Amino acid sequence: MKLVLAIEIGVTSSKVGLVNQYGDLQAKFAVDHDLTRLIPNLFEKIIDGLEAIGINYEEEVEKIGIAIGGYVDHMLGIIRYSANLNLTNYHLKEVAEELFKKPIFVINDANASALGEFWTGVAKQYDSIIFYYVDNGIGGAVITEGKLAPGARGFAGEFGHGGGVFQKNYPCSCGLTGCVEPMSSILGIANHFKVTFKNKKNHSAAHFFKNVEDITFKEILEIYEENNQPEEITVLLQEALDPLIMHMATMINALDPEAIILAGGLTQLDEKLIEIIQSSIKKYMIDMFAEELTIEIAELGNDSTMIGSAYYALNDWKIF
Ligand SMILES: [Zn+2]
Repeated sequence: MKLVLAIEIGVTSSKVGLVNQYGDLQAKFAVDHDLTRLIPNLFEKIIDGLEAIGINYEEEVEKIGIAIGGYVDHMLGIIRYSANLNLTNYHLKEVAEELFKKPIFVINDANASALGEFWTGVAKQYDSIIFYYVDNGIGGAVITEGKLAPGARGFAGEFGHGGGVFQKNYPCSCGLTGCVEPMSSILGIANHFKVTFKNKKNHSAAHFFKNVEDITFKEILEIYEENNQPEEITVLLQEALDPLIMHMATMINALDPEAIILAGGLTQLDEKLIEIIQSSIKKYMIDMFAEELTIEIAELGNDSTMIGSAYYALNDWKIF
C-alpha cells in the first residue's frame, strides 16, 4: 500500500508522519530545522528519518502533503505571507518538488487540522462543519457538503482577524481593531484577566491569583479547577470568549453547519467551554436554533494536521 508523507512545518521544528489511504498515522517523528535553508534541511533530515524507521522513500511514498501556518495559496503552493515563519511569496511547492521529486500539496495548517478531524476524528459523522482552532492564535476552516471550502486563494478560515466589530478593548497585532484574536485566543484570555485586575484592583476574581501582573492561561485553568470552577472566574472567561462566540453566531447564521468543532489549547476547558458557548451564544442567535446547536471538541490532538494534510494530498483537491 502506498503512503502519503505528511509534513507539518513549525517555527523551529516540523512534524513528519506517514499516513495510509484510510487515514491511519502509521509512523511519526519530529525534525528540527533551520529556517534559513528550510526545505533542503527538511529534505535531508526526513530522508534520514524515514530510513531509520525502515521506509523505502522511493517505493513507498506516493505523495506529500505539507501543512503550514499563514496565508497559503493552495492552488499554486505558494506561501503568500507567514508572520511566524517570516515567509513572503515563498514558492514552497516548487522548491520542495525539485528536491523531494514527488507530487506535493500545500495547505494552511488550520484547514489541514479540520480535514483530519473530518476524515478520521470527531467530525467524521458530519458533512458540514465550522472548525475553530484556538490556541496562541486563532485559525479555522469551513467544510461544507463534504468538501473543504478553502476560498479562491486558500485564505478561508482566518477567523481571528478582521470584521472590526467583535470587541472594543484590545488592538490586534495585525493592525486592525475589533479582531477576535487579541481577546479570545489563549494569550488574549490571559491578557483580559491581567488588564481587568489592573483596572479593578478589588475585582471579585482577583483574590484567586497570587501575582495578577503575570497570569497565563495554564494558570487560569489550574486555579479554575482547584477552586471548583468559581462563578467569578467563569464570568471573566465568558467576557474573554464573547468575541469568539459572536463570531461563531455570525458563521452559523451564514452557513448553517451541522456542528461547530473546537480544537487547540482552549479546549482544555473541556465541557465548561461548551457550556459557556451554549449559554452565551443565545445573545446572538434565535433561541430555538441556539438550543439545537451541536458543539464538539476535536479528538485527534496534535496528529490532526498531519492526517488532514495527507487527506488533502490524496484527494488532489482543486489541483487538477
Ligand atoms: Zn487582527
